[in-house]
Amino acid sequence: MEGNTHLPKIQMSVLSPVEEKQAMLAAIIASTDDAIISKTLDGIITSWNPAAIKMFGYTEEEAIGKHISLVIPNDRIDEENFIISQIKAGVKVEHFETVRVAKDGEFLFLSLTVSPILDGDGKVIGASKIARDISERKRALVKQAMLASIVAASDDAIISKTLQGIITSWNPAAERLFGFKEEQAIGKHISLIIPDDRLDEETYIIGEVSRGIKVDHFQTIRKTKDGKLVPLSLTVSPVIDESGNIIGASKIARDISAEQASQQETARLYEHLKVLNAKKDDFIALASHELKTPLSSMSAYLQLLARLETDAKNKTFVDKLQSQLTKLSSLVDDLLDVSKIEAGKMHFAKEDFDLREVVEEAIDLIVHSNPGYSVTFECLSSKCAIIGDSHRIEQVIVNLLTNAIRYSPDGNSLKVYLVEEDDQIKVGVEDYGIGIAQEKLQNIFSRYYRVDEGNGKVSGLGIGLYICHEIVRRHNGKIWAESKLGEGSTFWFTLPR
Ligand code: ADP
Repeated sequence: MEGNTHLPKIQMSVLSPVEEKQAMLAAIIASTDDAIISKTLDGIITSWNPAAIKMFGYTEEEAIGKHISLVIPNDRIDEENFIISQIKAGVKVEHFETVRVAKDGEFLFLSLTVSPILDGDGKVIGASKIARDISERKRALVKQAMLASIVAASDDAIISKTLQGIITSWNPAAERLFGFKEEQAIGKHISLIIPDDRLDEETYIIGEVSRGIKVDHFQTIRKTKDGKLVPLSLTVSPVIDESGNIIGASKIARDISAEQASQQETARLYEHLKVLNAKKDDFIALASHELKTPLSSMSAYLQLLARLETDAKNKTFVDKLQSQLTKLSSLVDDLLDVSKIEAGKMHFAKEDFDLREVVEEAIDLIVHSNPGYSVTFECLSSKCAIIGDSHRIEQVIVNLLTNAIRYSPDGNSLKVYLVEEDDQIKVGVEDYGIGIAQEKLQNIFSRYYRVDEGNGKVSGLGIGLYICHEIVRRHNGKIWAESKLGEGSTFWFTLPR
């Protein structure tokens, strides 16, 4: 007892044996964690130890002399009558689990042991009551019951097993998923549901869990009672006892057959789409190639006809035919370009050229074929040397200029910029036409994309900008557009020097 700081110091030497015993009891009562209370047979509290003070919140002065109903909830007053009747009959009431109420109104789960107090003649004169707080235990039980009901209601199979792989719990979802009833699974080795060629996985999983590592979203296959294989995603966590030892593993298994089936279906559709797309590209390549030959000979015959025709009226018809044929040829050329890009067969010359010259040529061409239009050219430098394919770059500029005119139904002027920057040259084509909505801007360089509203009567295939983008990209440049709906657009591209 020396050194036990909880117990009051007792000077045994000066006490008689009876006094010594009494002093010892008093010390125990004072130091125990259980509330120890005594009361008369009328229920009047006669003693109240420090643990009672702590448990119920009443000081000794507040409790002694009061009726015990001080700590009994109203709906349990009857219990007191029962207990007192037992005590009067000299019967001890043991481990009576009940609820009492503290001074602050908090309910306490207690286990009561109430014994009769006898006088010298063996007559019952009161009761001593030991109250043990079992709130913790009760709360743990409630928590356990709650967890158990979650496990029972879960759609995922939840299984626990020892580190040796022996199944120790098996929830209803596990029954549904694997077909084994709880009693058929518990006590069996987990290999019950592991296909033979995957037994090694268990060694790995148990290895990880034994080292305290959780195995997350482990996709695998397990087998059911009737031999069916199911794809699962497993999450296995260590089960740790109160002293921190790993004593087993809990496993949550989610059936991912539906998920996998939908992934497979998506992959299948994607493959199918790829094949169809390739077929379409092949068709476009073939069709444009086949169209090219008759177009070339038609063009040759028309040129001949233009030279031979003397009648003025007929001559205008031939001119019109020639201009329509040029449009048709350029459409077919664009389609051919698209199939070349798709097949990775668009080749580029590498030559030194002056970008300024190329821009001017493109402008001349456009002004020539669009007589009413005025094009302003803003350029501060005299020469802009570039390495690349001048024909392809001219194609880009002509395309941008043509679009600028096509998408400006009421316009009659454009502006072209050529700006030298540090390590690149920037070309811009500005129009005052219909413009493009902000949210559509990012799409216009995509293949076959056309802004549906506002294009009006302008026909097209939605491939011109796609080809421009590819040509500029292959020259290590950038192309983009700035635009305001209803006000006009400026298309820019850069080329490195
Ligand atoms: P196409 O003009 O044959 O449809 P493009 O690839 O050249 O194909 O252009 C894609 C789309 O971008 C066009 O359909 C049009 O909606 C829009 N667009 C291109 N240039 C302009 C412009 N200068 N002003 C307004 N819209 C434009």
